[in-house]
Amino acid sequence: MKDHQVIGNDKLQGIAVSPGIIIGKARLVDRSREKIVYQYLIDDSEISKEVERFKEALDATKEQIVTLKNRMSDQIKEHAFILDTHLMIIDDSMITDSTINTILDQKINAEWALKKSVRKIRQLFEKIDYEYIRDRINDVENVAERILRNLSGKEMESLFEIDERVIIVAHDLSPADTSELNTSKVMGFITDVGGRTSHTAIMAQALKIPAVVGLESVTSLIQDGTLIIVDGYIGEVIIGPDDDTIIAYQEKEIQHERYRSSILQLSHLPSETVDGHKIAIKANIEFIEEVVAAKEYGAEGIGLYRTEFHYLQKKKIPDEEELFEAYKEVVEKISPAPVTIRTLDLGGDKILSNNESPGEANPALGLRSIRLCLKERDIFKSQLRAILRASAYGQIRLMFPMISGLQELLDAKQILKEVMDELEKENVKYDRDIKVGIMIEVPSAVTLADVLAKHVDFFSIGTNDLIQYALAIDRVNEHVAYLYEPYHPAVIRMIRQVVKVAKEADIDVSLCGEMAGDPLCVSILVGIGIDELSMNAGGVPLLKKIIRSISREEAMADLQDILALNTAKEVRQFIEKRIEPLMPDLQEKDFYMKVSIDKSTH
Ligand code: PEP
Ligand code: MG
Repeated sequence: MKDHQVIGNDKLQGIAVSPGIIIGKARLVDRSREKIVYQYLIDDSEISKEVERFKEALDATKEQIVTLKNRMSDQIKEHAFILDTHLMIIDDSMITDSTINTILDQKINAEWALKKSVRKIRQLFEKIDYEYIRDRINDVENVAERILRNLSGKEMESLFEIDERVIIVAHDLSPADTSELNTSKVMGFITDVGGRTSHTAIMAQALKIPAVVGLESVTSLIQDGTLIIVDGYIGEVIIGPDDDTIIAYQEKEIQHERYRSSILQLSHLPSETVDGHKIAIKANIEFIEEVVAAKEYGAEGIGLYRTEFHYLQKKKIPDEEELFEAYKEVVEKISPAPVTIRTLDLGGDKILSNNESPGEANPALGLRSIRLCLKERDIFKSQLRAILRASAYGQIRLMFPMISGLQELLDAKQILKEVMDELEKENVKYDRDIKVGIMIEVPSAVTLADVLAKHVDFFSIGTNDLIQYALAIDRVNEHVAYLYEPYHPAVIRMIRQVVKVAKEADIDVSLCGEMAGDPLCVSILVGIGIDELSMNAGGVPLLKKIIRSISREEAMADLQDILALNTAKEVRQFIEKRIEPLMPDLQEKDFYMKVSIDKSTH
């Protein structure tokens, strides 16, 4: 494999996920979850201290749970009983007395003694016939995990509080971590794990900070304070660079800046192929603040508003009023252009915090997105109310993510109808003709597209997840990142099928995965007949430039040749030959071409 290896004494190769070059001090942060517990024996003289340490951890855990409970918003207050249960667990003698007795009798450390207590409780619970009670072991384990963290004395370092200019080096960063980065201080980040379309990567682009992921062991190779260079165009990290190298990279960045401003001048020209076919180019946003940049870059609206980042940033479930204000601000700022607001897509790699994750074995296949919303109806309804209320202030389209079949769509629409009826009764203004659509990002939705099309106004193809699910490649796993292939013939055929079905059903169809902003993919998509692409705002000017230099007729003819190719490698080589002359001889080309060149070795 070409990725991830050390390619010089001091150079590492990872996956470039957010462009730009930064030179600065490394700041190592630990975001790992406390998982490994060791057993060790303690001397008689240390026993009472160990018991005390355990009691202090119990008190700290109680305090944290009470704080969590007090912070619960009104809508989820009814779930406060879960935290009450957790408080009761802490006080239960099966946890406290049993652990203390084990420390006293067996002279072992508190962590191990606690593990033993939990194991005993688990064995007892497993014998119980009632599923509900059996499942409560999860609560016990959740509490035990908190106690363990407190025993280790490790508070999670708040990334928001970092107050010097640094480059973050971490094993992993969750999208929630990334959302709290203070970008006036944090210049960028690099991680051991992660893939090109992980949400952490997408966030880095939204925050406009360079990032390289999938470096495998960078946290063990770099020390806190080391000077490093991060090249977010080609995924290189240079550790301890000499003066000449620093100057060379500074020059590269200056060249890039020059090139960017030349491209920006073109961003407000119409997005039209040379044979006069219009392709709407819109922006994906995660934060309200991005609307301004989207307009500056020449986006013709917001094609995907990923609403979950608002929840991640606040670290709690926001109330309806707060959501309404946020959506109203977005729609008013982008007006008269439209915004497609996607309902909550939490779960998978987007979780509020490690402590609150249900600990699923396969989060990407678990209780995420629309599934979570259909289960947590109050949270869902309050978001729908906020979106509908904001629809009175501009053009909003509403979109459900991760629909895998008709029933799920009908259930979601039924809840939407209930919310509309409520608003009607309350005489609250909203757009009664609001367009309702779905993301096509699960292979079953592709197969069933003709059925789904009868119930919606539009489709938006989410290739980040579609590729993940169709090719069985975890989008956040660096070990399989090299297989993540937008040029895979199966992916191209799926997109083609969805577009064909949408056109036959006469509904709008767009594409909003990372593939939309990949200059190498654009002619394939134009050839397929996509009329709208939505991407990271920063990618809009370059995409427009490419669209303005290709012909739709030629793209359609090329597509016939492409459909006759059997491997992703052949497709990529075909398209590279076509697009290379249109690509500038600069970093954007590095950024996109390097990804494909690396992949072509597989
Ligand atoms: C997608 O899956 O392609 C998509 C646009 O949504 P997200 O990246 O937020 O999962
Ligand atoms: Mg998705």
